[in-house]
Amino acid sequence: MRIGIDLGGTKTEALLIDDKGNELFSKRIPSEQSYQGAINDIANLVNEIENKFSKVKSVGIGMPGAVSPETSLIKGANSTWINGKPFRSDLESKLKRSISLENDANCFALSEAVDGAGKDFQVVFGVIIGTGTGGGIVINKKIHKGKSLSAGEFGHNSLPRSNDNEIKLAKQCYCGLNGCIESFLSGPGFTYIYNKTHSTSLSTVEIVELSKKNDEKALQALESYVDRLARSLSDVINILDPDIVVLGGGMSNIDYIYKNINKVLQKYVFSNEGYTKVLKNVHGDSGGVRGAAWL
Ligand SMILES: [Zn+2]
Repeated sequence: MRIGIDLGGTKTEALLIDDKGNELFSKRIPSEQSYQGAINDIANLVNEIENKFSKVKSVGIGMPGAVSPETSLIKGANSTWINGKPFRSDLESKLKRSISLENDANCFALSEAVDGAGKDFQVVFGVIIGTGTGGGIVINKKIHKGKSLSAGEFGHNSLPRSNDNEIKLAKQCYCGLNGCIESFLSGPGFTYIYNKTHSTSLSTVEIVELSKKNDEKALQALESYVDRLARSLSDVINILDPDIVVLGGGMSNIDYIYKNINKVLQKYVFSNEGYTKVLKNVHGDSGGVRGAAWL
């Protein structure tokens, strides 16, 4: 048996699978938004599972950002409280074993490439649109990590084909730059722009519910969101030309996206034939937890 943990900015999820990938147990808890809190959350989940079942073969953890190959400290995480921290060694001493750590979008892409929406394809680009925005590249069922372990991190490219007014809508990104894709496509980015524009304080779920009642402002917000997603993905597609793009993370549950994205994408992708398609995940919005277990 293997345990996978997906450490998100909003929730932390644990999954126990057997060697065939059958899911035996899963649990989601709200994330403690502090460094020690993240370590305690993970340790408590592992202990709970091992007390209920038995000691497992391996523990794999998907988390935002990456372990710096130079310093072994975490870098580039939107859960900023783990940045600059020796997360792996602190977790290993707390859990008294060695663990596997991998970027959460890479875990998600791996899970969908192995036995999810991307299982019949060679090159899969997995996207997490949740608390943050990230991407992972899987080629022939193997993660392409990149030299600085940041391959696929399109969330911190600037929003393509944007104008000054559009850039002014978004909050400055924690990475220090303005106009990052993440500031538009993450869940918090989407609600920030909507609420700032309309002087409201609605959640993503509330905005999506309004759109289903044909509320004009909500529909306009989703239309802009899909257009920005299409522009952002067109840059990735022009360079990587993946066989398939699979969406995960909380925002990937919005059905409006799939009804519109593939058509809008054609406006922006350079090649005019054999388009890369965008699909919804098969293993749920936090499929990364399965990928983490497979590490
Ligand atoms: Zn950024």
